[in-house]
Amino acid sequence: MDNIKKVKEDVWGVALSLLVERLPSHAINTWFAPIVPISINREKIGLSVPSQFFSEWIESHYGDQLLSAVRAALKSDQGAYRLIVAKEKKTIEDNKPAFKPRKKPKENRTNKNYVFKNFIEGSNNEFAKNAALAVANSPGEARFNPLIVYGGVGLGKTHLLHAIGNKVLEIKPSSNVVLVTSEQFTLDFVNSLRKNKTIEFTKTYRTADVLLIDDIQFFRGKEQTQEQFFHTFNELYQSGRQIVMTSDRFPSEMKGLQDRLISRFQSGLSVDVQPPDFEIRVAILLEKSEQNGLNLKYDAIEFIARHVKNNIRDLEGAIIRILAKSSLMNKEIDFNLIRDVVQERVGSSYLSEVTIEDVVKKVSSLTQIKEKDIIGKSRKMEIAEARQLSMFLCRNIIGTSLSNIGFYFGGRDHSTVIHAVKSIHKKQVKDSRLQNQINLIKNEFSFLTYGLNQKF
Ligand code: ADP
Ligand code: MG
Repeated sequence: MDNIKKVKEDVWGVALSLLVERLPSHAINTWFAPIVPISINREKIGLSVPSQFFSEWIESHYGDQLLSAVRAALKSDQGAYRLIVAKEKKTIEDNKPAFKPRKKPKENRTNKNYVFKNFIEGSNNEFAKNAALAVANSPGEARFNPLIVYGGVGLGKTHLLHAIGNKVLEIKPSSNVVLVTSEQFTLDFVNSLRKNKTIEFTKTYRTADVLLIDDIQFFRGKEQTQEQFFHTFNELYQSGRQIVMTSDRFPSEMKGLQDRLISRFQSGLSVDVQPPDFEIRVAILLEKSEQNGLNLKYDAIEFIARHVKNNIRDLEGAIIRILAKSSLMNKEIDFNLIRDVVQERVGSSYLSEVTIEDVVKKVSSLTQIKEKDIIGKSRKMEIAEARQLSMFLCRNIIGTSLSNIGFYFGGRDHSTVIHAVKSIHKKQVKDSRLQNQINLIKNEFSFLTYGLNQKF
């Protein structure tokens, strides 16, 4: 063993033992154990670290401790260290890598069913789709880097993310597309620490040509992971690699995310996806039923679209459920089956679309009594009855509260409403005309008046 080598090792040995006293063992094992001293003079020691990431991490987390340990070991107040990123393992003497790097690039995890071709575009998502498409066609362009797609659940964020990955691979199959959820990223990171495989982790993520991270809201409050992500982000970004992220909210509204991450995110483009409007829901249902080999009449499609409104996942779910129900129970797909499925999915909000006004309108058209009379003060018998009928129906169909009904019908108090409901209830038993009216309106509302009062 030559002299210099011995000195290097001794000095580093002293510094390391000081660090061992001062730092938790996981830090030593993860960050300091892989270090190899490679050069030394009176005032400076050169330390080889496995990657740029190691270097950044050590500097930002342990720089001060390392410096003071090195100074103590060199016995010099002016002492310093230099971290040198090992280019090739071979050049570092005796450095046994803690793991074997994978030969093959990590298999990308894009879902081949999520492509641009089957992503239905509408005013709610066209901006997001076009931005995603632009990114897929030329990843890494500064204008769109990073791209953040944000919005509520089931609105197509994950679909777009995978579509980008798939398109990039279609255009250039050799691209290294890394697609993970933020949870997977966190898990990979934590495991790499635990198993001493940080280099592998770094390799996986920092060699990506396109890094696609789903649901970054789960980074919230995970400081270490954010730190790690920050470094990954910077490295990729600086070398012009594309990053795309999805999130449930606008980046600056993400509490628990470090400001510097947020400000990095804002250097690119954020696009939102909105809930689909009626026409888009119809288009999606048509597409999804075709995809699933389900032949639904337009009326049925429209009925579902009227009720299942919040997101696309639910629309898709409704189609699948209809299929499942009819085949499992060997039932024909008729209105009842569809209504059941819709009701299952939207629950009590099934009829929430109907308002007091709708009810009054219906009563008015059936009885030929003007709406303003129905809600007015007239005591004329047929008008009073139409009014009572309306109150009864509001209570029965929409379940409006007594006071709300009273308020709508000219500020009457709730006892008036109770009285109205009771008297119609009683009357209908004997009065078949009234009973008919009630059934007719109830029926229409159960089909929700959307031209569905016939079987599909
Ligand atoms: P998010 O990630 O926003 O919660 P997803 O991307 O998982 O939503 O979408 C939920 C489901 O709806 C997926 O099956 C997806 O294919 C489908 N979907 C969402 N948006 C569209 C769209 N515009 N066109 C076709 N399918 C869509
Ligand atoms: Mg998603």
